Amino acid sequence: METLWSPWRSKYIGTFKDEQEKSKEECFLCVAASAVKPDNETYVVARRRHCFAVLNLYPYNNGHTLIAPYRHIGDFTELTQEELSDMFALMQECVAALKKIYEPHGFNLGANLGRTSGAGLPDHLHFHIVPRWSGDTSFISTISDTKVVSIGIEETYNDLSKILNQK
Ligand SMILES: [Zn+2]
Repeated sequence: METLWSPWRSKYIGTFKDEQEKSKEECFLCVAASAVKPDNETYVVARRRHCFAVLNLYPYNNGHTLIAPYRHIGDFTELTQEELSDMFALMQECVAALKKIYEPHGFNLGANLGRTSGAGLPDHLHFHIVPRWSGDTSFISTISDTKVVSIGIEETYNDLSKILNQK
């Protein structure tokens, strides 16, 4: 067994709160949520009461979108009923819009909870919406963001935000 002696640990616990604050400041979802930059620079395609949708800048496929609560939380069990229903409603809207624009053969919807599961940003939970076409690769590489495709993100932003904001 590894030694359990860990003099750094008390220091780590002592700085935990600061680390949380730091992770929030460096969080791209919080930057997008805060609207300090215009939505067309952070690629926020829709805002709802408790959540928002933003394009993934390192997409697996064209139209890869993230749905996140405004709150910087990583624990799925801490989402309120309002956040849950708002997020799922927006997810449904995005799927409908993406269907209209890209006519994909299918979708992957899902979240990575915790870094072990593959979450690149474990402190601010988010759901992935990934349009799929027959012939593209497996689900695992989909939601762990390992494949990078170059797409016309401006075009995707314009198409998607137009449909999602036409009320
Ligand atoms: Zn955040």
